[in-house]
Amino acid sequence: MSTLPQERRVVTAIPGPKSQELQSRRTASVAAGVGSVMPVFAARADGGIVEDVDGNRFIDFGSGIAVTTVGASAEAVVRRASAQLADFTHTCFMVTPYEGYVEVAEQLAELTPGDHAKKSALFNSGAEAVENAVKIARAYTKRTAVVVFDHGYHGRTNLTMALTSKNMPYKQGFGPFAPEVYRVPVAYGYRWPTGAENAGAEASAQAIEQINKQIGAENVAAIIIEPVLGEGGFIEPAKGFLPAIRQFASDNGIVFVADEIQSGFCRTGQWFACEDEGIVPDLITTAKGIAGGLPLSAVTGRAEIMDAAHSGGLGGTYGGNPVACAGALGAIETMRELDLNAKAKRIEEVMKPRLTAMQEKYDIIGDVRGRGAMIAVELVKSGTKEPNPEATAQIAKACHAEGVLVLTTGTYGNVVRFLPPLVIGEELLTDGLEVLEAAFAAL
Ligand SMILES: *Cc1c(COP(=O)(O)O)cnc(C)c1O
Repeated sequence: MSTLPQERRVVTAIPGPKSQELQSRRTASVAAGVGSVMPVFAARADGGIVEDVDGNRFIDFGSGIAVTTVGASAEAVVRRASAQLADFTHTCFMVTPYEGYVEVAEQLAELTPGDHAKKSALFNSGAEAVENAVKIARAYTKRTAVVVFDHGYHGRTNLTMALTSKNMPYKQGFGPFAPEVYRVPVAYGYRWPTGAENAGAEASAQAIEQINKQIGAENVAAIIIEPVLGEGGFIEPAKGFLPAIRQFASDNGIVFVADEIQSGFCRTGQWFACEDEGIVPDLITTAKGIAGGLPLSAVTGRAEIMDAAHSGGLGGTYGGNPVACAGALGAIETMRELDLNAKAKRIEEVMKPRLTAMQEKYDIIGDVRGRGAMIAVELVKSGTKEPNPEATAQIAKACHAEGVLVLTTGTYGNVVRFLPPLVIGEELLTDGLEVLEAAFAAL
């Protein structure tokens, strides 16, 4: 563990001079399509703090997009990954396997929902895991269609762009997209026309009707859903929606895939967000929080489905890299030892009442939602439900200037999302919320 002081500190304008200098080198050499939330360059990160090259310390409400759940330099991750680095960096699991990969698969079998026999395959990125879940489901069912949902996000590769709902910035100009992908409604409570209380039943009925009428259930290989939709705006499908879709998949021999890449690994106060309504997916995709910041992803699921792909059909040069596997074992060890599910619930207890109190004062906060340390506010124009992306950008900018790293999200770009590392101290959390409140007051 580094010795980075756990306090907010702004000592230069944001961005500071060293960051500005790096930014001009970056602009000259890095492709414009790769964006950044803040033009400050990181020097160190630990616990709830990211320190930049000018010595500014930011309260981290982003975790590198839900990745550094255990912190960005967690002791067990550093220890295990360093030891592995010294032993060997790579052999390729498809050439000569190693124990760490098997151990990660064993941990995934234990931690994911359901007590059926499970197997895993490891990859590098979330998108790669989702692509492989589709390959496996197609091999198992011998069907081709894939069903996804409004506001869903599944990655930036060709197939996962097709699976993703939002055009700008993810898809614009990058087609043509993979075929046999169908999108159906999701129970977005806040925006459901007949009200949140009806959203679960009505949206699931509409989704199922569309599948039956437009695709034919017998042609569907997989239904893929995020149990809490991340990039779509931290949408928790209204109660009853996920169980209805899960049941429909079971009744029709469709592989139900929970994309827990953002919501998994203690983020919502449970190991996986689908546990909230007792959902047991056939396959589950994980990445982000899995390995304390090292690039690793997985598909885990029913042994008979996972074994449907022929030998050599799955894999990749780097998939399940030994250093990343060591990082994952360190991250999982940390989650268990520090009981990070309880920490996530505590973060919700601190954040939700504060945000709800702000909602009462500032009528541009239309909705406060989320679970655990996956919390968001949706901003609207006063007295309406019209999305307010301008205010969202202003709030984020004001927070950044004061040393609080917040991210925005949502189909309409009008959601401020909070994804703090679960190891963040309560004082930092409170300080960050005060900065946020001041930003609303100043708007
Ligand atoms: C981030 C994310 C992905 C893509 O993961 P990458 O590692 O960026 O490829 C897929 N699904 C969900 C739900 C995500 O949040």
